Amino acid sequence: MKTVQEIVMQQTFSRDDLVVLLNTEGEERTQLFSVAAARKEDVVGRKVFFRGLIEFSNICSKDCLYCGIRKSNDKVVRYDATDEEILEACRFAWQNRFGSVVLQSGELSSPVFVERVDGLLKAIKKLSNGELGITLSCGEQSRETYRRWFESGAHRYLLRIESSTPELYAKIHPNNDHHSFEKRLNCLSLLKECGYQVGTGVMIGLPFQTLENLADDLLFLKKIDVDMVGMGPYIEHEETPLYEHRYLLKSKQERFDLALKMVAALRLLLPDINIAAATALQAIDPAGREKALKIGANVIMPNLTPCSYRKEYQLYEDKPCLDEDADLCKNCLEARIELAGSEIGYGEWGDSRHFFSRGNRPK
Ligand code: SAH
Repeated sequence: MKTVQEIVMQQTFSRDDLVVLLNTEGEERTQLFSVAAARKEDVVGRKVFFRGLIEFSNICSKDCLYCGIRKSNDKVVRYDATDEEILEACRFAWQNRFGSVVLQSGELSSPVFVERVDGLLKAIKKLSNGELGITLSCGEQSRETYRRWFESGAHRYLLRIESSTPELYAKIHPNNDHHSFEKRLNCLSLLKECGYQVGTGVMIGLPFQTLENLADDLLFLKKIDVDMVGMGPYIEHEETPLYEHRYLLKSKQERFDLALKMVAALRLLLPDINIAAATALQAIDPAGREKALKIGANVIMPNLTPCSYRKEYQLYEDKPCLDEDADLCKNCLEARIELAGSEIGYGEWGDSRHFFSRGNRPK
């Protein structure tokens, strides 16, 4: 059998190799982390890029069994930030040289919603002289909608596959057409076809999930040739159906550790992509995101959602930064990122190198 030392030096990895990496502990895990950190520095450098996250609405038509803002959770007070509030947050991002923003919301596809996002994209470009990069994370949409939003200024899109194992996907979503695995896969290919830098990812430590499933997730990310990945630990939420399986879960600390190993293994597998340090890491460990930056991640998403809405965007328990305002958040991040041995790429889009190496030009 191959040793961890041998595996981390390879260029390609089998499913079994990845399972070995996800199983590492102690000295072997340290070895995985240090090789991944070195690979990151060699290939994408020491810079960390900011994406100011604006969770502009929690109104959602979906009923994902894990998610705290699912349609059927009537304990959530639904909100829709005003255009002015959203643009104010973008102005903050631009003035503080964040480089990019992410507009995220529950999933709606009504003409009013599509039109509204379109107007926001144009307004953000205008207020920042075209300088702010814009990522969207607004779920599954039609080809026309994706195309329209791209033309209006969005150039990256995040849509997690959640799990690349269809049987597991089916266990964590309602069994109907509105929650189909095939549709989600198709959306990822539409996004690529429209010209976006495409980001996807999975939840780590789900009930029923095995290390083999996670190794398959990593291989899936390679197969679909992603540009960006955001993946973090699954964290149970009391007001969701999946909560009943909480007895099957690994401890939060174990899910956290596994998420870090996933990030490190992914950096070895896909050295030139952008990897986000997921916010869910911080819900388990206050320094969670910085730990991920140290061992492979290179993007962080400071929360710029207006404070009054944050408690209503609880996808999972213990979501951090509920009452921190944007200024505080920035100062605290700066210090922590420097501690993690990186520097911040102020005022830069920080696009995925992989996107260009597959033949695309800057937008
Ligand atoms: N509606 C958008 C984005 C909102 S949710 C979309 O469908 O893409 C963003 C991500 O939060 C989801 O993709 C999911 O991976 C993550 N998430 C939701 N519930 C979670 C939970 N309980 N624990 C950890 N992550 C969760």
